[in-house]
Parts: sequence; C-alpha cells; structure tokens
Amino acid sequence: MVVQATARPVQHESLFDSAVEQFNIAADVIGLDDNMRRILSVCKKELTVHFPVEMDDGSVQVFEGHRVHHNSGPGPTKGGIRYHPDVTLEEVKALAMWMTWKCAVVGLPYGGAKGGVTCNPKVMSQNELQNLTRRFTSEISLMIGPNRDIPAPDVNTNPQIMAWIMDTYSMHHGYSIPGVVTGKPLILGGSEGRSEATGRGCVFAIQEYALKYGMNLQESRVVVQGFGNAGSVAARLLWELGAKVVGVSDSTGGIYNPRGLDIGRVIEHKQFSGSVVGFREAENVTNEALLELPCDILLPAALENVITADNAARVQASLIAEAANGPTTPEADRILWDRGVKVLPDIFANAGGVTVSYFEWVQALQAFPWTEPEVNERLQRIMARAFRAVSSTSEKYNVHMRTAALALAIQRVADFTRVRGIYP
Ligand code: NAD
Repeated sequence: MVVQATARPVQHESLFDSAVEQFNIAADVIGLDDNMRRILSVCKKELTVHFPVEMDDGSVQVFEGHRVHHNSGPGPTKGGIRYHPDVTLEEVKALAMWMTWKCAVVGLPYGGAKGGVTCNPKVMSQNELQNLTRRFTSEISLMIGPNRDIPAPDVNTNPQIMAWIMDTYSMHHGYSIPGVVTGKPLILGGSEGRSEATGRGCVFAIQEYALKYGMNLQESRVVVQGFGNAGSVAARLLWELGAKVVGVSDSTGGIYNPRGLDIGRVIEHKQFSGSVVGFREAENVTNEALLELPCDILLPAALENVITADNAARVQASLIAEAANGPTTPEADRILWDRGVKVLPDIFANAGGVTVSYFEWVQALQAFPWTEPEVNERLQRIMARAFRAVSSTSEKYNVHMRTAALALAIQRVADFTRVRGIYP
C-alpha cells in the first residue's frame, strides 16, 4: 500500500489543515478508528490573550498571544514559545500537534503544546521584550507549570526570555521553580549540550540512516539552508565527521564551493560579518538555487514550506534531513517519494532539541546536573532507537518515513488514550 503517492493534492487553508491532512494519511495507514481520530485531530485547550505592554516611549501597545495544548495523554505538555509578526492561532495549533507526535516518536513522557506572541522582537528593546514576556507569562500561567506544561525557546526566543518566564512564574508561587521552562541559561539550571542538541540530534539521525543504507558520510556532499542554531551546528559536526559541506545559507543568501567549505572559517566569517555571504573561498548563490545544488544530503534548517511542488522535482539530494519544522509541503512529499528521495522527517530529525529539553527538566526536578558527555550519549541512544522504530514502520507499511514516524507516534498516543479511558 503506497498511501501518500496516490492521495489527491489538497488545497490547504492553514498550517493546521496541513497538520490534520498528515495526521489522516498516517491514521489511514494504521487503521485508526473514528472515535480516536475525533479525539486526536483537535487541540485539547486553546487560550488566546490580549495584553497591554508599556513601551519605552511611554505609549501602550496591546499584543495578542496564544498557548495551546494539543494532547496531554502521555504526560505534561511541552513546546516552545515563538515571537514573530506572522504568529496566528492556526499556526500555533499545528505546531502543538506536531509536538505531540515529536515527543511520541522519541518516546518522551510528554504531550504537545506550543505558544506564540504576534510581535516583531527585532524592533523591540530588551526592556520592552522583558515587559512583554513577563506579562504574557502571567496571562498564560494558568496553563503552564512543571507538572502541567513546560515551555521552551522557539523562533526569536532565547535563554534570557526563558529566564524571565521562570522568574515570573516563580514570583507568583513564592519560591524558585526551574522545572517550569527549559532552554534556560546554564547558570539557572539549563542543561549542558542543550544549545547544540537539535543540530547534534539531526547528525545522529543521519549517521543511523547512513549505517543502515550503506551511505559513506566521508564521500557525501552536504548542503545546509539556514546557518543558525540548528543548521550551523549540524554543518560543523558533519564537516568534523569528514563530509564535504558544499553549500550553506542564511537569510541574506547562500555560498557554494563544490570542493567543500571550511566550516570553521565560515563560522568565523559569519561571526565577523554577520552573514555567510561574501566568504572568499566560495561563490554566492540565492537561497532558491541552494536547494537545487548537486549534493547527496540536503538539510533545510531555516523556515517552513521551502521544498514545494515547484522545486521538489529539481532537488538533487538523495537524502533530506529536516532540521527545520515543516520545510516540505505534502505535495512535495509525494513528488520526492515518487523520485525515490528519502526524507528524515522533522518530527524525528529535529527531536534532539526537545529530547535534551526533557533531560533539562529531569535534571531540574532532581536538582542534579549531568555532564555534557552524559547528555550526548543519552541523546545518541534515543535517536538511534527512534530511527530503528521509524525505519521498521516505514518498511512494514511501505510508506515514506514521515508517514511512518507519524503512524508510530499516533499509535503510541492512541494507546495511552485508550488505556487511560475517557473521563468521567
Ligand atoms: P535560528 O534563528 O538560530 O536560525 C535560523 C537560520 O535561518 C538563520 O541563519 C537565519 O538567517 C536563516 N534564515 C532565516 N530566513 C531564511 C531564509 N528565507 N532563507 C534561508 N535562511 C533563512 O533558528 P533555529 O533555532 O536554528 O531554528 C531553525 C529551524 O529549526 C526552525 O524551523 C525551528 O523551528 C527548527 N527547530 C529548532 C530547534 C532548536 O532547538 N533550535 C528545535 C527544533 C526545531
């Protein structure tokens, strides 16, 4: 049965529609019953808040924010908080649903959640960002807590913002509660290895794939779109493993050298100039052209919806490892599957971040920090175990790895839900 290759293209109204379409494809594969589909295809709790923030010039602006819990069957919910002008409730709902599946793929005892505030942090001062974060935390404090829902960083949020969330929540309760949030600064109980975890986890996923399918990483050419937290770490680790990283990019454009880039020097160049563009030992390319460069492994590590029906036929890589969330549209998935291009899907390939967030939460609850080698070794074991489960599900149902990862995750969450039963 090749479900995804024969399904009809669907016009998506929102990112949440896309998430539900992916859910239904995987639910068909495992023969999920209609009652369970009704439960798992909706978000359990959605809170939208409007709140005032005093700006530095004395004016008051009102912001809209959301916190959504998709499913709390397996345990407390977990998911990042995003600050971006394009944040909408529908986007936050989709990201919350994907968090449920992501946690289930790697076997973490969490359900999925997500949050976001519609704002442009790039034009806000640190003082304004702190005011916004503390007020938003107060507004959603009935939804979060170390045993209820644990936020983390996402697009445009960082360890400092997590520190303000932790402090605000702790002030409400009268004592320090480090387990309410992950991605904190090390000094406040952040985990060793957290800042590199997404890129490192993605590389562990690629290594497992290479081992199983006989791909020689040292002979592989790699292209990375997005040279930020996830992408630059993955590029550096693959380069250190001996792969030839031929192209990388950031929001200002890309660079290409078919003989391979010295990633250590590209990192220095970006630190110095603010961009990868202009690196002397490479030619400049656009972000669109970068995705179509000759290579064996392509890592989209920037934005959603970059591999689409328009360019999927021209992608030259034989393996796509999705460090970013949602970089491939469902239509592109069908084209890639027909062409035999393998995809390590986001809910598996970038799960290293939430996995080490889970380690941070465990360390906070036990007040007992781990060393970086302990963190990395446990991460490697979890990614290897998840790869074996995803690839065997893919072979069992003859579906691509995205549908396999979803099928595996949905089955696990359905099992939790069935055993817990329906209250009352
Ligand atoms: P980041 O902000 O550190 O880096 C993003 C990079 O993408 C930057 O280099 C930026 O310049 C680049 N970029 C932005 N717009 C671009 C464009 N139009 N074309 C090419 N590059 C562009 O963010 P990050 O934390 O590395 O996140 C990247 C992706 O990985 C996101 O989809 C995020 O949801 C996903 N992700 C991140 C984590 C994590 O722990 N950081 C975990 C899971 C998933």
